[in-house]
Amino acid sequence: MNCDDITRLVHDYGTGRLPDPERRSYGDHLHSCSACQGFLRRCSELDCKDFIAFLDDYVDGVLSPERREVFEFHLGICPDCTLYLAQYQKTMRLAAETREAEQQLDAAPPELLHAVLAALKTDRATDS
Ligand SMILES: [Zn+2]
Ligand SMILES: [Zn+2]
Repeated sequence: MNCDDITRLVHDYGTGRLPDPERRSYGDHLHSCSACQGFLRRCSELDCKDFIAFLDDYVDGVLSPERREVFEFHLGICPDCTLYLAQYQKTMRLAAETREAEQQLDAAPPELLHAVLAALKTDRATDS
């Protein structure tokens, strides 16, 4: 196993999905490679729970640059969170579209409203 494998498999390793023989050689490489130890330390700066906790801030663009960097680093190594982010953004887009549609309704021309109100009044007048 080389340093590339360590980077590639870090998510499987961290989530316990890496099968045993590979897991052992992963650990062996880690012990002997300070570069990969540093890499793993960076990975542990932010886990999936933190990722979800800061997702709102990330999408709103209010994360500090340092946080943002750790955040994007996590995205690079975690397919779960990449997927989660994509779904989140889709949901946000849908919500925004719904809001837009509602705003268009609010912005209905006043003539139309008057016409509706007038029609209602005539209806009531003919009723009585
Ligand atoms: Zn290495
Ligand atoms: Zn994650």
